[in-house]
Amino acid sequence: MIIDFHAHIGRIHPERKELLDASQLMTRMEEWGIEKACVLALSETPEGDYLEADTEDVLRECSHFPGRLIPFCLIDPRFGLNHPSMNFAPLMEEYVARGCRGMGELLPKMAIDDCRCLNLFQQAARFNLPVVIDLHSRPLSYGLEDAPGLPGLEKVLQSCPETIIVGHGPTFWAEISGSVSPSERGSYPRGPIKPGGAVPRLLKTYPNLWADLSAGSGYNALTRDPAAGLEFLETFQDKLLFGTDYCLRRHTDREVKIIGFFKTLRAKKLISPEAWEKIAWKNAVKLLKL
Ligand SMILES: [Zn+2]
Repeated sequence: MIIDFHAHIGRIHPERKELLDASQLMTRMEEWGIEKACVLALSETPEGDYLEADTEDVLRECSHFPGRLIPFCLIDPRFGLNHPSMNFAPLMEEYVARGCRGMGELLPKMAIDDCRCLNLFQQAARFNLPVVIDLHSRPLSYGLEDAPGLPGLEKVLQSCPETIIVGHGPTFWAEISGSVSPSERGSYPRGPIKPGGAVPRLLKTYPNLWADLSAGSGYNALTRDPAAGLEFLETFQDKLLFGTDYCLRRHTDREVKIIGFFKTLRAKKLISPEAWEKIAWKNAVKLLKL
């Protein structure tokens, strides 16, 4: 079995002509041999509005394929009063009651340790909602920000020990390596993974940090230095989640490289069968209590 921890539906801006609905997503999943997918919302956050899909859209689309599509909700940290003590509990309670199992993806252009983000993270834990974050560096118009070495993420992990943070995005994955240059933090760096990376250090230190393998950034991190990528998968097999981040605009040719890569891992026995099964679906089942 394979569970895609990071999938999308939605209408793509600015033209809004292309629509990826639940039926189309299911067709792709059948092609790829993926049994279940977590469907993430984006457009509660204005910076995420390039893909028009808010929690209501996600809930509606997922309701057509119960048990196969798992809805995630999204609340912008600035929602309501844009205040660091805003009470999100009524909204979270409603979303959980309607079937949401996680939150994300969170990509406002804010510092990850902004007090409004910390407030959201802390409240998510009370409703057992793991939070998928997207870390990006300037000048992109979206994505949570952090300094080199990810001190802001570390502060989040320390301040919100009950909250499961699921890392994702180019800046997160660039920090799999030590000595990351500023230009590498916003791109897909090539070449060997150097020792001292923030991501392995934080994954080792904090039980509440997990990561999904989705998107070009996840694929790049695992393949730029093949031997180190395999070692990373084996080492952190209990905290990694397979995901695609499939989105029509980015994948017009329908090629999502992480899928072929992940299947090759099993076919060629490049990682242990136990590690593969955990990353493919067991970790997601455990984390989301499916
Ligand atoms: Zn995404």
